[in-house]
Amino acid sequence: MSVLRVAPLNGETTWSYLRRLAAGYGMDSAALLGWWQQTNHRPRAGTGSPGAALEMLFDPAGQELLARLSGLPHSTLARALPSWQQGPAAFSPDTRAQTGLSGRGPGGLRPAGPAAGRVHWQQAHTLGPVAIACRLCTARRTGRPVHAVRYLPLWQRICTRHHRWQTDATESPDGPGWLDMAPCPEIARAQQRWPTLARRAAARGHDPQQAFALACTIVLGWWQQAAAWPDEQIWPERMHRLTQSPAAGSPDTARSTAVRDAAVLPEVLTVTAALTDPACIRLAHADRSRKRPAGWGAGGRFVHHLGHRLNRPWLGPILSVDYTSPLQTWIHTVASDRAAVRRCSASPPKDDAEYLACLAAPGLAGGVDGGEQDA
Ligand SMILES: [Zn+2]
Repeated sequence: MSVLRVAPLNGETTWSYLRRLAAGYGMDSAALLGWWQQTNHRPRAGTGSPGAALEMLFDPAGQELLARLSGLPHSTLARALPSWQQGPAAFSPDTRAQTGLSGRGPGGLRPAGPAAGRVHWQQAHTLGPVAIACRLCTARRTGRPVHAVRYLPLWQRICTRHHRWQTDATESPDGPGWLDMAPCPEIARAQQRWPTLARRAAARGHDPQQAFALACTIVLGWWQQAAAWPDEQIWPERMHRLTQSPAAGSPDTARSTAVRDAAVLPEVLTVTAALTDPACIRLAHADRSRKRPAGWGAGGRFVHHLGHRLNRPWLGPILSVDYTSPLQTWIHTVASDRAAVRRCSASPPKDDAEYLACLAAPGLAGGVDGGEQDA
């Protein structure tokens, strides 16, 4: 087989790359897979899923074979394919014991020979969130509008060149495929907040990705309740703009997780900023010193402040009585963590005057972390 050069996309899953490589050779991906020994069965794809969200990990010999077939050096593949570095570790004796790797191929597969490289199948989302890459960008890069899958966290889902939301690879193929972001510029602005927000959060001793994940959990909980909130107007109006675009795609668009993930991104970024903001941690701690129900209940000042940041001043009283929510758990944890509070302030505010001063401080009340208002 003569060597054909098909370059991997930055952040591409190895399975996506191998499928494109096989297509470049004019082969079915199953035929190309015969060059490796498969050490487990390929995971079953979800209902209607084409298996786009699968990932493959190679042992060193398997990596060497892929490098030979692609005609590219190891360093290029390692730089472009995020799962590359994790391949050899998946074949370590400890990992094999944990995952049940036997080193023997499953029945029915063509043996690739005793010296062949090995491959281990995995669900890609166990390594990170994966999305269908913007087809216009892949066409620009490869010359053809090919199907490719990349690791893309939610804060990078909008292709800034083509203003498209890249949908999750685990989404049903009957879903929209991509969303036009032009009608919702506030979502792109939220994505633009991430680099600065993450840098500030890290400088303050927080793990930005953990804070983002917690904010996602909190906001998706609100999303499930929002239909029962009489004053909620922002999300329905945003959903209308997202789903009425001529480019929105199939009638299932409104029910897709892509629409939900895109619609909540501004709120997720605002909550992430709040969870990593020293002023908010001081507010939560100050609430703790007040007696129930005022401190934790309807008088909770942190949740009121958060409601204002979210352009939903009516939300604070709702959040403050949702005692089992992830947000309340965070409030309890942070407010009880004296070391965390000391890191935020040598003298936490104790009264309303200090609270108001806190709100008026530069960088808060719409200014912290570039805290533009969500519209
Ligand atoms: Zn694009």
